[in-house]
Amino acid sequence: MKTDTIAAISTAMSNSGIGIIRVSGDEAISLTNRIFVNKNKKNCLTEYSSHTIHYGYIVDENENIIDEVMISIMKAPNSYTTEDTVEINCHGGVFIMKKIMDTVLKTGVRAAEPGEFTKRAFLNGRIDLSEAEAVMDIINSKSEFALKSSVKQLKGSVSGLIKNLREEILYEIAFIESAIDDPEHISLDGYDEKLSKKTDEILKKLKNMLDTADNGKMLKEGINTVIVGKPNVGKSSLLNILVGEDKAIVTEIAGTTRDVLEETINLDGIVLNIMDTAGIRNTDDVVEKIGVDRVKKIIKDADLIIYVVDSSNPFDNNDYEIIRMIKNKNTVVLLNKSDLDLCINEEDLKKAFVRVYNDTIEINKITSDIKISETNTLDIDNLRIIKTSTRENTGIEDFINTVKDMFFNGKLSYNDEVFITNIRHKELINDAYDSMIQVKKSLDDNMPEDFYSIDLMNAYISLGKIIGEEVGEDLINEIFSKFCMGK
Ligand code: GDP
Repeated sequence: MKTDTIAAISTAMSNSGIGIIRVSGDEAISLTNRIFVNKNKKNCLTEYSSHTIHYGYIVDENENIIDEVMISIMKAPNSYTTEDTVEINCHGGVFIMKKIMDTVLKTGVRAAEPGEFTKRAFLNGRIDLSEAEAVMDIINSKSEFALKSSVKQLKGSVSGLIKNLREEILYEIAFIESAIDDPEHISLDGYDEKLSKKTDEILKKLKNMLDTADNGKMLKEGINTVIVGKPNVGKSSLLNILVGEDKAIVTEIAGTTRDVLEETINLDGIVLNIMDTAGIRNTDDVVEKIGVDRVKKIIKDADLIIYVVDSSNPFDNNDYEIIRMIKNKNTVVLLNKSDLDLCINEEDLKKAFVRVYNDTIEINKITSDIKISETNTLDIDNLRIIKTSTRENTGIEDFINTVKDMFFNGKLSYNDEVFITNIRHKELINDAYDSMIQVKKSLDDNMPEDFYSIDLMNAYISLGKIIGEEVGEDLINEIFSKFCMGK
């Protein structure tokens, strides 16, 4: 199949040492050849062998030199896209990169869409869809775990698991179909029992994968964290200390107004995405500033709440109100200002939680209509309370260890376990799980065999979508449109 030739600036559009313009397609070498001269010869690019790099100049149609470059040549099928690929390494100025790109386009090359090189690698069969997705994950990695896990995925760890499961499922489908077609030679006697065992095995494997997904997502993307507490308890001081541990990357959350910022902080390998509401910082009433619905949503979406209490001051209604808002969330309470004379201790705090959970306290303010969760579970002995002083910088280590303990049983796992870190994959594994549960049900209800194969087939298809089989063009386009330009 003939493909058109595409090009893009693959490095960032800012002034830097080197810029790379990548060209891929059947005519990548011959078209770039038109604008390349080396020291002695014009148009010599086609003579070079694959995986070589050459010094020379890019010239315009009047043979004026535009820039001094190094050009590497990678011939099909041994390139990123599996097509003939040329990479022009030029000086990394925005103007010069654009000028070279224009010159390349004038030869008849088309400007690539975002992610189109990787899309070609996928469409040409070099990598599957989960591996292609890993490419973007590597670029977006913000922690050691995220990086290692994405590299593993790129090397096929997720695909491997999925392919094995699909083979197991396909074997059963084929067996049922052949037995139905040829009952004289293939008997289904005793097959139910065998399939039931197999279904249990597959369900267990799917469940194991799903179990890795929550931790995997948090390890990869960070723990969504909200700091709450009354005014002047030390919330900003805490944030400053945490930020000091590792320079925070401040990003504005897409799709929200300017009142919520996210600071990404990497503490010993744990990434906390701290929702930093301007409200929490500036005015003293978070709820009033950003509205009940927003607060509700921020708390609902949080994986972790850090509730800061000033232990040198007595409780008041506001504290009960806050406890009510964060009810049933993963919470770490910091009894801050522990350097001062204590007015509240751990026991007082536990009592306050018990009162709120048992509804024995009247809370009369705006948040009284906030119902975060229906259940009323409180494991008071496991309420995590840590004494801190954000003035004297004590207790922070304890806090970090507690978070590790809460989410990763004390240790961050960088071992060989394969984590499912992609939501799309998680949902599809979930679908496959549901289909396998249906198989189990049909078996229990002694349904005819073709019922099993319908659900087995659904599980097979769901898993196939992870690696890019059985997916439509729309989904493929959507996935690759989120890629960087030039990747
Ligand atoms: P926020 O309003 O909750 O963000 O609180 P801040 O971090 O702005 O702190 C309020 C005041 O409490 C400031 O004057 C801080 O210096 C002081 N403060 C913060 N943490 C501590 C602490 O651990 N001990 C003492 N003694 N004072 C603190």
